[in-house]
Amino acid sequence: ISINLNKINDNTWEVPRGYKPGMRVPGRLFLSPPLLNILEQGTLDQVANVAALPGIQKYSMAMPDAHLGYGFPIGGVAAFDREEGVISPGGVGFDINCGVRLIRSNLKESDVRPGITDLLERLFHAVPSGVGSKSRLRVNDDQLDDVFIHGSRWAVENGYGVPNDVERCESQGMMEGALVKQVSTRARQRGRPQLGTLGSGNHFLEIQYVDEIYDTKAADAFGLHEGQITFMIHCGSRGAGHQICTDHLRTLTQAAEKYKIDLPDKQLACAPTDSSEAQNYFGAMVCAANYAWTNRQVIMHWAREVFQDFFRQDMDELGMDLVYDVAHNVAKLETHKIDGKKREVYVHRKGATRAFPPEHSDVPAAYKKVGQPVLIPGSMGTASYVLHGTHDAMDISFGSACHGAGRVMSRAHAKHEFRGEQIQKDLSKMGISVRATQPALIAEEAPGVYKSSSDVVDVVHNLGIARKVARLMPIGVVKG
Ligand code: 5GP
Ligand code: MN
Ligand code: MN
Repeated sequence: ISINLNKINDNTWEVPRGYKPGMRVPGRLFLSPPLLNILEQGTLDQVANVAALPGIQKYSMAMPDAHLGYGFPIGGVAAFDREEGVISPGGVGFDINCGVRLIRSNLKESDVRPGITDLLERLFHAVPSGVGSKSRLRVNDDQLDDVFIHGSRWAVENGYGVPNDVERCESQGMMEGALVKQVSTRARQRGRPQLGTLGSGNHFLEIQYVDEIYDTKAADAFGLHEGQITFMIHCGSRGAGHQICTDHLRTLTQAAEKYKIDLPDKQLACAPTDSSEAQNYFGAMVCAANYAWTNRQVIMHWAREVFQDFFRQDMDELGMDLVYDVAHNVAKLETHKIDGKKREVYVHRKGATRAFPPEHSDVPAAYKKVGQPVLIPGSMGTASYVLHGTHDAMDISFGSACHGAGRVMSRAHAKHEFRGEQIQKDLSKMGISVRATQPALIAEEAPGVYKSSSDVVDVVHNLGIARKVARLMPIGVVKG
């Protein structure tokens, strides 16, 4: 890294405004010294570029899992003033409302280990995966509109889950303000056959066990205890979200010119929050976000069916309740205290998770005393974590934390570096089974392509923007 950063504390580094022309606010990097050492120059430059966008508040931020993204870094958080700011698709990402959901169970590690290969095989077939995979569920155009508008609730009302599932989702699995007319025919075509599919690569289904509890009170509230089996789903809005992002990037690129916004990078295409271009994107983004929640809901339903069948237990016996569902690629209009005053801002979290505090109105009643569950996946060979949100997060990071361990090696590089069969063998020795569409994919997703999840999580824990509750170790992973 070519500049001198100002050290704010052991885990916070400031990119001064003087670093690049046009920066309206400083950058803030939340990194431990070893993680700072491996930060790419390009990611830092992206943080600085975002700091030049109109109406940005406080800082352009990067979480400890940050790496290079389209325009905005992945692991980036930026809040723009409702009146003077902008909305940018690059600040959300192509996989709109990519996110993670965690399901608890009454199963023990020893219940699952013996039949793990068979169980994974059944999950693999129950949830279609791979690029362009098609679903068992077919929706028509009217149903697709319902999905875009109502999100998770549509799935539950149509038999895919129970009402309690909706309560346990961020934003109750539905953002207001869907504009179905802003979703193109192409996006609909891509979305219709893919509801209830995992996608490929980084997306996964994972059977885990709780191997350590850090905070008993919070773990109790979340229904977690040592030795217990949990199930994690990571996926997003599939082709629909990707197409919506692509379509609106085009109009926002033109809009940025029209409104004479000086962009340090074309990929930061954006428009003033109240412009029709920005609002149309936002309304379409809401459709994709609601689609993604529905997608995870349908997938969870099928996974529950597999478990019921496999263990010959009903839902009550299995206790497969949804703990929580977080979005980690989304923009939201939220109220935050800035310089002592409450203000409305569009918080863009791209590869970043909300970490809302105890008593916040958006935290489910059952978790009001401890705060929102923050779900941080690690990799198919390392720990994932459950944390809870905090008041400090509201002061420091607009109520946000990291979303994963974060990539350190590109897919192309990984394919040279690793062989899928070998990784699979190594994991098997560690007691982790993997079922993937193809071995090459396992190489691209080898644990070594990611940063250390424990190092990353320790940064957010030590900063106090989220606090550790439980650690989850993988037993079996389905990779798209
Ligand atoms: P992203 O949404 O940026 O693609 O991925 C989020 C995070 O998921 C990554 O940064 C990585 O830490 C984590 N991850 C990727 N693959 C797996 C997996 O197979 N299992 C688990 N538990 N985490 C994973
Ligand atoms: Mn995704
Ligand atoms: Mn994701």
